[in-house]
Amino acid sequence: MKKKIKKKVTSTPIELGGSNFLKGSAKEYWRDHYSHSQADSNCGRKLWYRYLDPRKIPSPSNVHMMVGNAVEAGVNHLLRKRMGAGMEGITCVMAINEQMKKEEDKWKKNGWEIDQEVFEELWKETPKILEVVEKYESLIDYQPVEMQKKLWIELPDLDLPVEGYIDIVAQRTGPFGPEPVIIDIKSSAKKKAVTNGWKMQLALYALGIQRETTANVLPTVEIHLLVRLKTRTDIYIEKLQLEASDYAQAYMRLKDLQWRIDKGYFPANREGWWCSPKWCNYYDTCHSEYGAEDNTLLGLNL
Ligand code: SF4
Repeated sequence: MKKKIKKKVTSTPIELGGSNFLKGSAKEYWRDHYSHSQADSNCGRKLWYRYLDPRKIPSPSNVHMMVGNAVEAGVNHLLRKRMGAGMEGITCVMAINEQMKKEEDKWKKNGWEIDQEVFEELWKETPKILEVVEKYESLIDYQPVEMQKKLWIELPDLDLPVEGYIDIVAQRTGPFGPEPVIIDIKSSAKKKAVTNGWKMQLALYALGIQRETTANVLPTVEIHLLVRLKTRTDIYIEKLQLEASDYAQAYMRLKDLQWRIDKGYFPANREGWWCSPKWCNYYDTCHSEYGAEDNTLLGLNL
Protein backbone atom coordinates (compact mmCIF):
# COMPACT_ATOMS: atom_id res chain seq x y z
CA MET A 1 0.00 0.00 0.00
CA LYS A 2 1.44 3.37 -1.07
CA LYS A 3 1.70 6.11 1.57
CA LYS A 4 -0.66 9.10 1.35
CA ILE A 5 0.96 12.34 0.27
CA LYS A 6 0.40 14.98 2.92
CA LYS A 7 -0.22 18.42 1.46
CA LYS A 8 0.96 21.42 3.39
CA VAL A 9 -1.22 24.51 3.50
CA THR A 10 1.02 27.56 3.44
CA SER A 11 -0.89 30.61 2.23
CA THR A 12 -4.14 32.43 3.03
CA PRO A 13 -7.42 30.63 2.25
CA ILE A 14 -8.63 30.78 -1.30
CA GLU A 15 -11.85 32.47 -2.34
CA LEU A 16 -14.15 31.97 -5.26
CA GLY A 17 -14.35 35.29 -7.07
CA GLY A 18 -17.12 36.72 -9.24
CA SER A 19 -15.88 34.59 -12.13
CA ASN A 20 -15.55 30.84 -12.04
CA PHE A 21 -11.85 31.02 -11.22
CA LEU A 22 -10.40 30.86 -7.76
CA LYS A 23 -8.38 33.66 -6.30
CA GLY A 24 -5.39 31.65 -5.17
CA SER A 25 -4.19 28.17 -5.85
CA ALA A 26 -6.70 25.33 -5.63
CA LYS A 27 -3.88 22.85 -6.10
CA GLU A 28 -2.36 23.85 -2.80
CA TYR A 29 -5.58 23.12 -0.94
CA TRP A 30 -6.74 19.99 -2.71
CA ARG A 31 -6.75 16.89 -0.56
CA ASP A 32 -4.11 14.20 -0.90
CA HIS A 33 -5.92 12.21 -3.58
CA TYR A 34 -8.31 12.28 -6.50
CA SER A 35 -11.36 10.02 -6.72
CA HIS A 36 -13.89 8.76 -9.21
CA SER A 37 -16.70 10.79 -7.65
CA GLN A 38 -14.67 14.01 -7.96
CA ALA A 39 -14.01 13.29 -11.65
CA ASP A 40 -17.68 12.35 -12.09
CA SER A 41 -18.99 15.56 -10.55
CA ASN A 42 -21.37 17.40 -12.84
CA CYS A 43 -20.85 20.80 -11.20
CA GLY A 44 -17.55 22.54 -10.56
CA ARG A 45 -19.09 24.82 -7.95
CA LYS A 46 -20.17 21.81 -5.92
CA LEU A 47 -16.58 20.56 -5.89
CA TRP A 48 -15.45 23.93 -4.67
CA TYR A 49 -18.00 24.01 -1.83
CA ARG A 50 -17.12 20.49 -0.82
CA TYR A 51 -13.34 20.56 -0.96
CA LEU A 52 -12.12 24.14 -1.02
CA ASP A 53 -14.55 26.54 0.61
CA PRO A 54 -12.71 27.97 3.62
CA ARG A 55 -16.03 28.12 5.52
CA LYS A 56 -16.21 24.30 5.48
CA ILE A 57 -19.98 24.25 4.97
CA PRO A 58 -21.24 20.89 6.30
CA SER A 59 -21.86 18.35 3.58
CA PRO A 60 -24.29 15.80 4.98
CA SER A 61 -24.64 12.69 2.89
CA ASN A 62 -27.96 12.58 1.13
CA VAL A 63 -30.50 11.10 3.53
CA HIS A 64 -31.77 8.77 0.80
CA MET A 65 -28.33 7.18 0.72
CA MET A 66 -29.14 5.83 4.17
CA VAL A 67 -31.25 3.10 2.56
CA GLY A 68 -28.49 2.29 0.03
CA ASN A 69 -25.96 1.93 2.84
CA ALA A 70 -28.36 -0.35 4.74
CA VAL A 71 -28.75 -2.58 1.65
CA GLU A 72 -24.97 -2.84 1.42
CA ALA A 73 -24.73 -3.65 5.13
CA GLY A 74 -27.21 -6.52 4.61
CA VAL A 75 -25.28 -7.88 1.59
CA ASN A 76 -21.95 -7.59 3.44
CA HIS A 77 -23.42 -9.49 6.36
CA LEU A 78 -24.38 -12.39 4.09
CA LEU A 79 -21.03 -12.40 2.32
CA ARG A 80 -19.07 -12.34 5.57
CA LYS A 81 -21.00 -15.45 6.64
CA ARG A 82 -19.96 -17.16 3.38
CA MET A 83 -16.37 -16.28 4.11
CA GLY A 84 -16.68 -17.82 7.58
CA ALA A 85 -16.30 -14.38 9.17
CA GLY A 86 -19.90 -13.78 10.26
CA MET A 87 -20.60 -12.48 13.76
CA GLU A 88 -22.17 -14.97 16.15
CA GLY A 89 -25.83 -14.21 16.96
CA ILE A 90 -26.17 -11.35 14.45
CA THR A 91 -28.91 -11.80 11.87
CA CYS A 92 -29.26 -10.01 8.55
CA VAL A 93 -32.12 -7.83 9.80
CA MET A 94 -30.02 -6.85 12.82
CA ALA A 95 -27.15 -5.80 10.53
CA ILE A 96 -29.57 -3.71 8.43
CA ASN A 97 -31.15 -2.05 11.47
CA GLU A 98 -27.77 -1.31 12.98
CA GLN A 99 -26.66 0.47 9.82
CA MET A 100 -29.91 2.51 9.67
CA LYS A 101 -29.38 3.53 13.29
CA LYS A 102 -25.74 4.48 12.62
CA GLU A 103 -26.83 6.73 9.75
CA GLU A 104 -29.56 8.38 11.81
CA ASP A 105 -27.15 8.94 14.73
CA LYS A 106 -24.61 10.48 12.35
CA TRP A 107 -27.19 13.08 11.25
CA LYS A 108 -28.20 13.89 14.79
CA LYS A 109 -24.61 14.04 16.10
CA ASN A 110 -23.63 16.48 13.38
CA GLY A 111 -26.70 18.60 14.00
CA TRP A 112 -27.76 18.35 10.36
CA GLU A 113 -31.30 19.55 9.81
CA ILE A 114 -33.67 16.71 9.04
CA ASP A 115 -37.38 16.27 8.97
CA GLN A 116 -38.22 13.48 11.46
CA GLU A 117 -40.96 12.29 9.12
CA VAL A 118 -38.34 11.57 6.46
CA PHE A 119 -36.45 9.31 8.86
CA GLU A 120 -39.65 7.53 9.80
CA GLU A 121 -40.42 6.91 6.11
CA LEU A 122 -36.93 5.55 5.57
CA TRP A 123 -37.22 3.20 8.55
CA LYS A 124 -40.40 1.78 7.00
CA GLU A 125 -38.18 0.53 4.15
CA THR A 126 -36.47 -2.02 6.39
CA PRO A 127 -38.67 -5.06 5.52
CA LYS A 128 -38.20 -4.30 1.80
CA ILE A 129 -34.44 -4.03 2.29
CA LEU A 130 -34.39 -7.43 3.99
CA GLU A 131 -36.53 -8.91 1.20
CA VAL A 132 -34.26 -7.67 -1.59
CA VAL A 133 -31.08 -8.72 0.24
CA GLU A 134 -32.43 -12.24 0.82
CA LYS A 135 -33.44 -12.47 -2.83
CA TYR A 136 -29.92 -11.43 -3.79
CA GLU A 137 -28.45 -14.16 -1.59
CA SER A 138 -30.20 -16.83 -3.67
CA LEU A 139 -28.41 -15.52 -6.79
CA ILE A 140 -24.85 -15.35 -5.45
CA ASP A 141 -22.71 -17.52 -7.73
CA TYR A 142 -19.27 -16.27 -6.69
CA GLN A 143 -16.89 -16.64 -3.80
CA PRO A 144 -16.36 -13.32 -2.03
CA VAL A 145 -12.72 -12.48 -1.31
CA GLU A 146 -12.85 -8.97 0.15
CA MET A 147 -15.49 -6.30 0.80
CA GLN A 148 -14.98 -2.53 0.81
CA LYS A 149 -11.49 -3.02 -0.58
CA LYS A 150 -9.53 0.21 -0.52
CA LEU A 151 -7.54 1.05 -3.63
CA TRP A 152 -4.80 3.59 -3.96
CA ILE A 153 -4.06 3.88 -7.68
CA GLU A 154 -1.11 5.75 -9.16
CA LEU A 155 -1.53 6.63 -12.83
CA PRO A 156 0.87 8.36 -15.23
CA ASP A 157 0.92 12.18 -15.31
CA LEU A 158 -1.39 12.55 -12.31
CA ASP A 159 0.11 14.54 -9.41
CA LEU A 160 -1.93 12.62 -6.84
CA PRO A 161 -3.01 8.99 -6.47
CA VAL A 162 -6.64 7.99 -6.97
CA GLU A 163 -8.51 6.60 -3.98
CA GLY A 164 -11.36 4.13 -4.41
CA TYR A 165 -13.38 1.53 -2.55
CA ILE A 166 -14.57 -1.63 -4.29
CA ASP A 167 -17.79 -3.04 -2.84
CA ILE A 168 -16.90 -6.68 -3.51
CA VAL A 169 -13.80 -8.38 -4.89
CA ALA A 170 -14.74 -11.96 -5.75
CA GLN A 171 -13.79 -15.06 -7.71
CA ARG A 172 -15.97 -17.08 -10.02
CA THR A 173 -14.96 -20.38 -11.58
CA GLY A 174 -14.57 -20.09 -15.34
CA PRO A 175 -13.48 -22.63 -18.00
CA PHE A 176 -9.80 -22.18 -17.04
CA GLY A 177 -10.17 -21.90 -13.26
CA PRO A 178 -11.00 -19.08 -10.85
CA GLU A 179 -11.47 -15.68 -12.47
CA PRO A 180 -11.35 -12.33 -10.64
CA VAL A 181 -14.58 -10.31 -10.55
CA ILE A 182 -15.22 -6.79 -9.27
CA ILE A 183 -18.80 -6.14 -8.17
CA ASP A 184 -20.46 -2.86 -7.37
CA ILE A 185 -23.76 -3.04 -5.45
CA LYS A 186 -26.32 -0.41 -6.39
CA SER A 187 -29.76 -0.08 -4.89
CA SER A 188 -32.72 1.85 -6.11
CA ALA A 189 -36.48 2.26 -5.82
CA LYS A 190 -36.82 1.65 -9.59
CA LYS A 191 -34.92 -0.10 -12.36
CA LYS A 192 -32.09 1.99 -13.75
CA ALA A 193 -30.01 1.62 -16.89
CA VAL A 194 -26.25 1.37 -16.45
CA THR A 195 -24.86 4.90 -16.51
CA ASN A 196 -21.60 6.05 -18.03
CA GLY A 197 -20.51 7.15 -14.55
CA TRP A 198 -20.90 3.58 -13.24
CA LYS A 199 -18.85 2.28 -16.18
CA MET A 200 -16.11 4.81 -15.51
CA GLN A 201 -16.03 3.91 -11.83
CA LEU A 202 -15.59 0.20 -12.54
CA ALA A 203 -13.07 0.79 -15.34
CA LEU A 204 -10.95 2.71 -12.84
CA TYR A 205 -11.25 0.02 -10.18
CA ALA A 206 -10.39 -2.71 -12.69
CA LEU A 207 -7.25 -0.76 -13.62
CA GLY A 208 -6.43 -0.42 -9.92
CA ILE A 209 -6.77 -4.16 -9.27
CA GLN A 210 -4.70 -4.99 -12.34
CA ARG A 211 -1.94 -2.65 -11.20
CA GLU A 212 -2.03 -4.05 -7.68
CA THR A 213 -1.90 -7.69 -8.76
CA THR A 214 0.22 -7.07 -11.90
CA ALA A 215 -2.11 -9.52 -13.67
CA ASN A 216 -2.05 -9.71 -17.46
CA VAL A 217 -5.82 -9.50 -17.73
CA LEU A 218 -8.29 -6.98 -16.37
CA PRO A 219 -10.90 -8.41 -14.00
CA THR A 220 -14.52 -8.84 -15.04
CA VAL A 221 -16.69 -5.99 -13.77
CA GLU A 222 -20.35 -6.22 -12.78
CA ILE A 223 -23.10 -4.01 -11.43
CA HIS A 224 -25.59 -5.81 -9.20
CA LEU A 225 -28.69 -3.65 -8.98
CA LEU A 226 -31.09 -4.38 -6.10
CA VAL A 227 -34.46 -2.78 -6.79
CA ARG A 228 -37.23 -2.19 -4.26
CA LEU A 229 -40.48 -1.53 -6.10
CA LYS A 230 -43.70 -0.82 -4.17
CA THR A 231 -45.12 -4.30 -4.73
CA ARG A 232 -42.01 -6.47 -5.24
CA THR A 233 -38.22 -6.57 -5.34
CA ASP A 234 -36.01 -7.34 -8.36
CA ILE A 235 -32.33 -8.07 -8.93
CA TYR A 236 -30.47 -7.17 -12.12
CA ILE A 237 -26.97 -8.53 -12.75
CA GLU A 238 -25.26 -6.36 -15.36
CA LYS A 239 -21.99 -7.75 -16.73
CA LEU A 240 -20.21 -4.81 -18.30
CA GLN A 241 -18.21 -5.22 -21.49
CA LEU A 242 -15.63 -2.48 -21.11
CA GLU A 243 -13.60 -1.43 -24.14
CA ALA A 244 -10.13 0.11 -24.28
CA SER A 245 -11.85 3.45 -24.90
CA ASP A 246 -13.71 3.15 -21.57
CA TYR A 247 -10.44 2.77 -19.65
CA ALA A 248 -8.98 5.69 -21.59
CA GLN A 249 -12.03 7.83 -20.82
CA ALA A 250 -11.87 6.96 -17.11
CA TYR A 251 -8.24 8.12 -17.10
CA MET A 252 -8.88 11.27 -19.15
CA ARG A 253 -11.64 12.38 -16.75
CA LEU A 254 -9.06 12.39 -13.98
CA LYS A 255 -6.68 14.40 -16.16
CA ASP A 256 -9.52 16.85 -16.76
CA LEU A 257 -10.14 17.10 -13.01
CA GLN A 258 -6.45 17.82 -12.49
CA TRP A 259 -6.59 20.54 -15.16
CA ARG A 260 -9.55 22.21 -13.44
CA ILE A 261 -7.72 22.09 -10.10
CA ASP A 262 -4.50 23.44 -11.67
CA LYS A 263 -6.41 26.33 -13.21
CA GLY A 264 -8.74 26.84 -10.25
CA TYR A 265 -11.71 26.55 -12.61
CA PHE A 266 -14.94 25.64 -10.80
CA PRO A 267 -17.96 26.77 -12.82
CA ALA A 268 -21.52 26.40 -11.56
CA ASN A 269 -23.72 24.08 -13.62
CA ARG A 270 -27.41 24.62 -13.02
CA GLU A 271 -28.61 22.89 -16.13
CA GLY A 272 -29.48 19.40 -14.93
CA TRP A 273 -31.35 17.22 -12.44
CA TRP A 274 -28.39 17.41 -10.02
CA CYS A 275 -29.04 21.10 -9.36
CA SER A 276 -31.89 20.65 -6.90
CA PRO A 277 -32.26 20.81 -3.11
CA LYS A 278 -32.67 17.02 -3.14
CA TRP A 279 -29.30 16.27 -4.76
CA CYS A 280 -27.16 19.30 -3.89
CA ASN A 281 -26.47 20.07 -0.24
CA TYR A 282 -25.23 23.54 -1.21
CA TYR A 283 -28.36 24.54 -3.13
CA ASP A 284 -29.51 27.31 -0.79
CA THR A 285 -26.02 28.71 -0.21
CA CYS A 286 -25.17 28.61 -3.91
CA HIS A 287 -28.41 30.25 -5.01
CA SER A 288 -28.09 32.99 -2.43
CA GLU A 289 -24.46 33.70 -3.37
CA TYR A 290 -24.41 33.38 -7.15
CA GLY A 291 -26.81 34.68 -9.75
CA ALA A 292 -27.79 33.24 -13.10
CA GLU A 293 -25.21 35.44 -14.87
CA ASP A 294 -22.41 33.40 -13.32
CA ASN A 295 -22.57 30.88 -16.13
CA THR A 296 -20.21 28.07 -17.02
CA LEU A 297 -18.03 29.88 -19.54
CA LEU A 298 -17.42 33.12 -17.67
CA GLY A 299 -13.73 33.81 -17.27
CA LEU A 300 -12.51 30.87 -19.34
CA ASN A 301 -9.69 32.37 -21.40
CA LEU A 302 -9.05 29.75 -24.03
S1 SF4 B 1 -26.81 24.50 -6.50
FE1 SF4 B 1 -26.45 23.78 -8.57
S2 SF4 B 1 -24.85 25.12 -9.37
FE2 SF4 B 1 -24.83 25.34 -7.14
S3 SF4 B 1 -23.34 23.89 -6.41
FE3 SF4 B 1 -25.30 22.86 -6.37
S4 SF4 B 1 -25.45 21.81 -8.34
FE4 SF4 B 1 -23.84 23.33 -8.50
